Amino acid sequence: MIWKGIVGRNFTPDAFREYVAGLTWGEWQPEFITLHHTAVPSLAQRPNGFNNASMSGLERYYRDEMGWSAGPHLFVDDQPAGIWVFTPLTTPGVHAKSFNGRSLGLEMLGNYDVEDFDTGRGALVRDNAVAAIAILSNALGVDPDSMMCHRDEPSTSKTCPGNNVDEVAFIRAVKNYMGWVVVTAPGGNMNQQELDRGRERLPIFQAAADAYRWPEELEAVMFKIIGSQWMTWMLAAIDSRESRFGLALDGDGLGDGGHGHGEMQIDDRSHAVFCASGRWRDLSASLEYVHKNVIVPAFNYLGDYFSLFGKDYAALFRGAIAAYNCGPGNVRKALEAGQDVDARTTGKDYSADVIERAMALKEALG
Ligand SMILES: [Zn+2]
Repeated sequence: MIWKGIVGRNFTPDAFREYVAGLTWGEWQPEFITLHHTAVPSLAQRPNGFNNASMSGLERYYRDEMGWSAGPHLFVDDQPAGIWVFTPLTTPGVHAKSFNGRSLGLEMLGNYDVEDFDTGRGALVRDNAVAAIAILSNALGVDPDSMMCHRDEPSTSKTCPGNNVDEVAFIRAVKNYMGWVVVTAPGGNMNQQELDRGRERLPIFQAAADAYRWPEELEAVMFKIIGSQWMTWMLAAIDSRESRFGLALDGDGLGDGGHGHGEMQIDDRSHAVFCASGRWRDLSASLEYVHKNVIVPAFNYLGDYFSLFGKDYAALFRGAIAAYNCGPGNVRKALEAGQDVDARTTGKDYSADVIERAMALKEALG
């Protein structure tokens, strides 16, 4: 058995994101991530987490005592730079029999059959593990729902990663870290009247969505997050946010003190010619207009600042949605100032709210 060697470096979540962005995935592409706890050592046995000596000790254990070709990929502790890369991420590791060929293995320091996972040091380990899995899921285009606990492996009787680890809550935290708001109540805050109007308009949103040509990388990641016809749900969600499919408009189809025109609330101060044409009364025409003049230009503009989005296509797209409300320049400035992508939008929640609506509409009408 040839030992594959270890990386033996530790990272903060931000540094880990950069590290992962610099990796080249070759023949082996992990399909999901398997979550473990170390059990031994427990948190109590490692009051200061891991260090270089513990990595050497783990290497001796897996290589010399177990006689394996590799160990798990990641060890995570409760320290600020608590994401330790052990087995190189681009090669299969050894951590869970039938999952080894298809998954990355992440070991959380602690024994979560007895130690607390929701408070204190356990919660810090959890937060680092959530960050590492979110970053890897983004980089690999892996659906966070595909994550497995070791105990899900058919051939094991272990409780790993511990009975105190709630898999559903953990995956929800991963999705939140990825920047996607998770809908807990299908339908969100939309009432039946609004949902009915959304359903009536679905063919219009579908036709408008089909006219877009997005980069394959964006298609792939959005498909993983929202599912098929994701752009249809996004356009419907913008309409919902802007005008509740027209319910929030006055008798003339106007909103925002008379400046917002039609269900998509196209503003006459920025789009005077289109608003004067009266074509804004037609939803199809409005969707075609914002496609060419608002959404795609914002996406392209923000694409020139891809590194502000961590070179993450889903984050870039979210920026373009925020730009629908506050303009791409304001999105760029917010990110350059270290603020949230929605910091300069109305209610400071525009893209988060639109995504929540998209998921709720898909849930209710899909
Ligand atoms: Zn395990």
